[in-house]
Amino acid sequence: MTDDELLKRAQRVTPGGVHSPVRALRAVGGEPVFMQSASGACIEAIDGRRYVDFCMAFGPLILGHSAPAVKAAVAAALERGWSFGTADSASLALAELINKQLPWAEQIRFMNSGTEAVMTALRIARAATGRDKLLKFAGCYHGHTDAMLIRAGSGLAGQGSADSAGIPTGVVTDTLVAPLDDEAALDAIFAEHKDIAAAIIEPLPANYGLLPQRRNFLSRLAQRCRDQGSLLIFDEVITGFRLGFGGCTQDLGIQPDLVTWGKIIGGGFPVGAVAGHRSLMENLAPVGAVYQAGTLSANPIAMAAGHATLAALVDGEVYAYLEALGARLEQAVNESTSWQLQRTGSLFWLSSAGKGIVRSPAALPADLGERYSRLFQAGLKAGLYLPPSPYEVGFLSHAHTPEHMEMLAALLQSEG
Ligand SMILES: *Cc1c(COP(=O)(O)O)cnc(C)c1O
Repeated sequence: MTDDELLKRAQRVTPGGVHSPVRALRAVGGEPVFMQSASGACIEAIDGRRYVDFCMAFGPLILGHSAPAVKAAVAAALERGWSFGTADSASLALAELINKQLPWAEQIRFMNSGTEAVMTALRIARAATGRDKLLKFAGCYHGHTDAMLIRAGSGLAGQGSADSAGIPTGVVTDTLVAPLDDEAALDAIFAEHKDIAAAIIEPLPANYGLLPQRRNFLSRLAQRCRDQGSLLIFDEVITGFRLGFGGCTQDLGIQPDLVTWGKIIGGGFPVGAVAGHRSLMENLAPVGAVYQAGTLSANPIAMAAGHATLAALVDGEVYAYLEALGARLEQAVNESTSWQLQRTGSLFWLSSAGKGIVRSPAALPADLGERYSRLFQAGLKAGLYLPPSPYEVGFLSHAHTPEHMEMLAALLQSEG
């Protein structure tokens, strides 16, 4: 069965043949490659071709595909049964592991996706403040809940417009949108809107390229939130446990009111989580009046995979390895190709050279899409699977080696 034949069959029974749009590979002018297995740093297609994977399922697999420690924990969990719908010990073990390392995460609630985590954090913030308005930043992604599918509008400062069909007008007017990397715009929005329940931001935006923010910008945001009684939510679904165990929150030394997690915290199984101080978290039912629930929440298999993954990260050796690997990639690419590699730890993003650090979508090079599509296709031919969009970041894992970095640098040289 070829990719073409499978795609035709898939398109008959599924919109576009995929269960998440970026998988259709339209952003790189291609058709999806059907994969059948993966191990270490490699993913294998149904025709048996193997690719060094730099997409890594979009982030959860910091230890690599089918990491032995995670596999063993999942196998043991399967033996015990895979869904109880009761209080259980696997979720307790994971929450305690996190709380021990990150004492500010006094309480944690697990759910099934990053989107759910964001939904819940926003609901807690609205309940705790008694306000409706939310503030997000253009270029940040927070999953596909209505309130976050809002992009910057063309009119008044802060006013947005729907980024998807099917978003009610009332939802659009309740979400303000600010530019990244712009203190003056931040001040203007907080001056005009005194009724913001919460500002939500990816402290290291990694869903529209990688857009590192200046610490001053983030601390100004924290200050404005404090001044006006708005809550600050750090969406660390992608950065949590990736840049270091405590993510950006720990690195920056800026304490948000709530943090959302996903991806790594489930080790590659469906998961999301909200964490914060007990006083805020106990707004959640059954203690408080904020409703949130899930049939499969804190699924024991996901909890076991998350626990095995996080346990391997506690001593920091994986992060040191990833930093060294990333530095090597960065040096090889920036010295010998016309691509610019923007990188933080094991997150990287390929952009055009000579532009300086890109910190907001407005600064993105115009020709990036076309250039990147050629690169992606050349990568497939050379046995490298890159993130399937110029706006998706790449991920390194503990299973990647210096040789894999050389392969990527060589590809970038040939597609300069
Ligand atoms: C991936 C991501 C989400 C959404 O998580 P899902 O599990 O895909 O729902 C939310 N926020 C950020 C920052 C993400 O990277």
